Amino acid sequence: DRARRPGSTVRVSVVLRCRPLNANERAEKVPEVITVDEHARTMAVARGGAGTSTTNGGKRETSESKEFAFDDVFGTQSTQERVYDSAVRPMVKDVLEGMNCTVFAYGQTGTGKTHTMSGAHDAECDVLSSEAGVIPRAMSHIFEHLKSKELEHSVKVTYLELYNEKITDLLGASTDGTNATEHALMEDGKNGVVVKGLEEVYVGSTEEAFAVLNRGNALRKTEATDINAHSSRSHSVFSVTVHWTDVSPDGEEFVRTGKLNLVDLAGSENISRSGAKDKRAKEAGAINTSLVALGRVITALVDKSVHIPYRDSKLTRLLRDALGGKSRTCIIATVSPASHSVEETLSTLEYAHRAKNI
Ligand code: ADP
Ligand code: MG
Repeated sequence: DRARRPGSTVRVSVVLRCRPLNANERAEKVPEVITVDEHARTMAVARGGAGTSTTNGGKRETSESKEFAFDDVFGTQSTQERVYDSAVRPMVKDVLEGMNCTVFAYGQTGTGKTHTMSGAHDAECDVLSSEAGVIPRAMSHIFEHLKSKELEHSVKVTYLELYNEKITDLLGASTDGTNATEHALMEDGKNGVVVKGLEEVYVGSTEEAFAVLNRGNALRKTEATDINAHSSRSHSVFSVTVHWTDVSPDGEEFVRTGKLNLVDLAGSENISRSGAKDKRAKEAGAINTSLVALGRVITALVDKSVHIPYRDSKLTRLLRDALGGKSRTCIIATVSPASHSVEETLSTLEYAHRAKNI
């Protein structure tokens, strides 16, 4: 339980979540191939056939199943509240202590990345529904903390989308309700990499934060000609910066800052595709650029390489500090229990397991 030990120095924690079969899959009696042991924090994938087992550095392999251990695992019945409380709440506490933290959702399309990150929430309501995901829960947690401490504070959010290696602003004001403007990344000596001209929206309450999130999500939908293709190939980054005034032991006031990035990654199913020919494939290839670069950065960090290839994609440039800096990171990998997804599920588990060694 390295992620939760007090004073833990672990920077990257990796947790797994398996969604339940959906109504169609249940109706078709699709077999399930995932076994989750929440207590042992392991997830096993059945592959069929019988045989002997070998233990291989936290991965238990048999010819019939392959088992992986993570910092936490969430089974098909796990609630949004439990995922937030176990995996994300400790990181938001760190943000409120002045750290930079990042949460990634990684996995095949349709496995619950957006459900986990955004979930369902009401823009008009300050009470979280049981289906609210990580973003609304984090916003609510931050405002509750600031209110209870009665600290002078400001909270601003940005929300961007990365599609085909182009950044668009999901909160950018425009008259026709669309936003085709492309934003460039710039090196900023003090703040690292910043997105030029990105709209920063100050929010004063949980309700305001929900309204802004919904505005961004709505723009994401209206812009896409094919919503499913678009959402499976785009990355979205919701960032919250919190400033508050603290008082030092000798009575001096100073401003403190914490930052939280909440990243809903493109579907990982395109990651190994190559030989782009048509436009669709080319777009898939472009998503590969950022997801493949993320994989390479993770590999280089695991191997303690001298050169970490952050510059290979917009995503890795943007999140450089989250990956290699002093910040803390949580990767929530999502999988389907269905037998027909077993190859994608294994590839997600392998990827996530590798990231555990950063
Ligand atoms: P992704 O963003 O990874 O493509 P979604 O979040 O859109 O996947 O999830 C696909 C579908 O599965 C949605 O209808 C979503 O509501 C449902 N779903 C995903 N995860 C869960 C879960 N843990 N419990 C119940 N339904 C889920
Ligand atoms: Mg999604």
